[in-house]
Amino acid sequence: MSTYRVWGWGASDGEAPRAADVREFARGLESVLGFPGQPPEEPAPLRALEEPRVALQPSLATLGSAEPVDRARHGLGRSYRDVVRGLRGAPDHVPDLVVRPGGEGDVAAVLDWASSAGVAVVPFGGGSSVVGGVEPMVGGYFRGTVSLDLQRLAGVAEVDPVSRAALLRAGTFGPDVERGLAGTGLTLRFFPQSFERSTVGGWIATRAAGHYAARLQHIDDVVESVRAVTPSGVWESRRLPASGAGPSPDRLLLGSEGAFGIVTEAWLRLQSRPVHRARVTLAAPDLAVGAEALRALVQNGLAPATCRLLDGCESVLTGTLTTGDAALVLGAESSTAPVEPALRVAVAACADLGLRALLPEESTAAAQTWRSAFLRGPYLRELLVLSGVLVETFETAVTWDRLAALVDAVTAATQAALGEVCGGGTVTCRITHAYPDGAAPYFTVLAPARRGSELSQWADVEAAAKEALHAAGGTITHHHAVGRDHRRWYDRQRPDPFALALGAAKSALDPAGILNPGVLIDRRPPPDTGPPDAGQRRGIGPVDH
Ligand SMILES: Cc1cc2nc3c(=O)[nH]c(=O)nc-3n(C[C@H](O)[C@H](O)[C@H](O)COP(=O)(O)OP(=O)(O)OC[C@H]3O[C@@H](n4cnc5c(N)ncnc54)[C@H](O)[C@@H]3O)c2cc1C
Repeated sequence: MSTYRVWGWGASDGEAPRAADVREFARGLESVLGFPGQPPEEPAPLRALEEPRVALQPSLATLGSAEPVDRARHGLGRSYRDVVRGLRGAPDHVPDLVVRPGGEGDVAAVLDWASSAGVAVVPFGGGSSVVGGVEPMVGGYFRGTVSLDLQRLAGVAEVDPVSRAALLRAGTFGPDVERGLAGTGLTLRFFPQSFERSTVGGWIATRAAGHYAARLQHIDDVVESVRAVTPSGVWESRRLPASGAGPSPDRLLLGSEGAFGIVTEAWLRLQSRPVHRARVTLAAPDLAVGAEALRALVQNGLAPATCRLLDGCESVLTGTLTTGDAALVLGAESSTAPVEPALRVAVAACADLGLRALLPEESTAAAQTWRSAFLRGPYLRELLVLSGVLVETFETAVTWDRLAALVDAVTAATQAALGEVCGGGTVTCRITHAYPDGAAPYFTVLAPARRGSELSQWADVEAAAKEALHAAGGTITHHHAVGRDHRRWYDRQRPDPFALALGAAKSALDPAGILNPGVLIDRRPPPDTGPPDAGQRRGIGPVDH
């Protein structure tokens, strides 16, 4: 039986790479990466899973699945560690059951049952987490774990064309959001690289960032209101364009990673669909010079929607430029007026700072090559792992004054660790998002893996890289969330009183401590905690969506 669903990116088993394709792919690797690929790895059968330790109460029984591949899929996200463990048929933590609620009433009933039964609940959107966010590694305090898969809570429920916003259900995948808005002339315009396989609820729970580099980068920027079911009741904020009424209830749910409640739907702001588009690619002598130009663009209000700056190595690896120059890909769009004039101003500003605009044909080809490398990225990663390449990414954000030092320190520490642990390899950097006061560098690691030891290899490299990043003043994540993998750095990054406040919020919203234990904060469930009685739960109506 195929295990592709457990570890792969494609939508169906039919998209699993074939050994012949992997062999062909691996043949060209040495000339690109400087080390050879290995013979294609054959995915192993799924290990025998332990019997589920818990059973749903009879009224919920039809929502549960104990099918082994289903359970294994819900035990893993999509980080390198996840893909390797999936390929080996060896997920470490597998939920006892996968539960698929059909509406808010089901969600509330599952939380009630889990709170009283001492069962941990791990929300699951698209399962594209790269930080251990969906892995049910919850500690030993629970009688069992369930993965709460929200994919049945899907669709565009309502569009308000006057205010330009849509009510989107949490389990809606990216393409279905845009399909649901077709015909309205409006778009959410939120395109993370994982667009195909991630959901509205996941974006909110992880504070995801889309593909656009300047303006409205994070999902935070387009959230108008959020509705969530918590073990203590329904949390729904008002639809407002802005508000000065105290700390924002939406902000507390943004990035909450399922620890405070289950996001069921949200009103998100829309925009007119762009009809004018233009792209241009510039070459910079190196990343530092390109970054200065990018800073000037953002700080002077000249930055177009897309501004991706790739270092020379990433530029070569993606085929964007073959010269060894850094590449700055600019892409402008508008729903009202041609964008070429504004782009010309941006190009002139970059030229003043030492960048060279490519000839029009070369420039368009470079931008298209970069775009298709970006879209193919997740599939390419699969081929790399099957060819024995250790491949992982990590990202951060830092103010402009510390950017160059951070990039140098992180690159040096990661490169040194790769030399020690893998005997070599490559670290590349690109700037994915730019702000008036700083930018988000994104690193990719490619190195020869030792089959069977990849997880410890990556653990050592990751520790060196992220220690350097933390020491250089960056955040442990710009948009990948904290999950379980970033906890040790996140705990050092956040203020201690803030951690206390989060703990208090967790106690109030999730008294039995069942929601995604292990992310954001540790909270041992209090002994003998029962669920709030049904009368305490406010706001859950009888109507399911
Ligand atoms: C190849 C690849 C490319 C990626 N590109 C990007 C990118 O460009 N930008 C970016 O920001 N991220 C990116 N990611 C990371 C990932 O896609 C994001 O974190 C995404 O937001 C996760 O959404 P999801 O629906 O898959 O959530 P999941 O992975 O299912 O869950 C993520 C976390 O949110 C919680 N959660 C999920 N749904 C809910 C809900 N309804 N209520 C409460 N909690 C919930 C889960 O418990 C978990 O802690 C990428 C990942 C991969 C593998």
